Amino acid sequence: MTTIGNGPEIRGIAGKRALVTGGSRGIGAAVVRRLLDAGAEVLTTARSATSTVPEGASFVEADVRTRAGAEALAAAAEQVLGGVDVLVHNAGGARPYADSSAIPDEGWQDALALNYLASVRLDSLLVPGMRERESGTVVHISSAAVLTPIGPFLHYTAAKAALENYSRGLALELAPLGVRVNAVSPGRTATPGGETTREQWASLGVAPGETNAEDTTPLGRDGRPEDIADAVLFLVSDRASWLTGRNLIVDGGEFPMG
Ligand code: NDP
Repeated sequence: MTTIGNGPEIRGIAGKRALVTGGSRGIGAAVVRRLLDAGAEVLTTARSATSTVPEGASFVEADVRTRAGAEALAAAAEQVLGGVDVLVHNAGGARPYADSSAIPDEGWQDALALNYLASVRLDSLLVPGMRERESGTVVHISSAAVLTPIGPFLHYTAAKAALENYSRGLALELAPLGVRVNAVSPGRTATPGGETTREQWASLGVAPGETNAEDTTPLGRDGRPEDIADAVLFLVSDRASWLTGRNLIVDGGEFPMG
């Protein structure tokens, strides 16, 4: 079992009811594990269950790209958890295209649905409970790629940029109630989805070629899912009680504006 080094009682996460989207693998699964280790009760979701859903978490199948999926998930959260104190919007991603002119209408729509509207919809269903209780924390997973948008991924980075802007605005709106909202922007992280995307990009023949994390990343390696999960855990903990409306870039120092 992974340990986090500090007792759950210090962090204010023990006993919290947490919903994490996209927790069947990659960064989402690491976030689920960290929250479970810290004593939270966790419900997670993906379009289908896998053997890599962390043990100890409840799981419900839902597609967060649709309003119906968001409603089913919110209903499951109410049924399983009785409310949500910690909400982590992690499900995201998009396949690359040769350049921006090759992105079809459905490519833009799908990227927006998964990387932006999914969060807006789920927040609209679950944040009202946080408003009523005057407590809760939300984290939106964006991407450090927003800092250097490029043609093959413009549908994705534009949607994530919208998410960051929305996240900041929601944070300012909810701050007087004591509900905190932040974003986390991972750099290149070793996950199944990240690997698939990089393979798809390479197969298009437009990727810059094999890059070595030892050369491109000041800290000399790709991110691990746990690196991102630790940032999320900090933001949803009481240790971050004076942090809201921020976007924490977790990228090994790679992106110049980070
Ligand atoms: P993975 O593809 O490895 O995992 C994505 C998770 O989300 C899976 O559990 C997947 O399950 C679920 N998911 C995908 N689509 C949906 C959907 N429509 N409804 C519900 N669940 C869904 O992704 P990563 O761990 O790499 O990425 C996690 C987040 O981090 C994403 O938001 C991504 O944009 C961001 N990010 C990742 C980076 C990286 O290098 N890995 C870099 C920057 C940002 P299923 O497919 O079965 O539905």
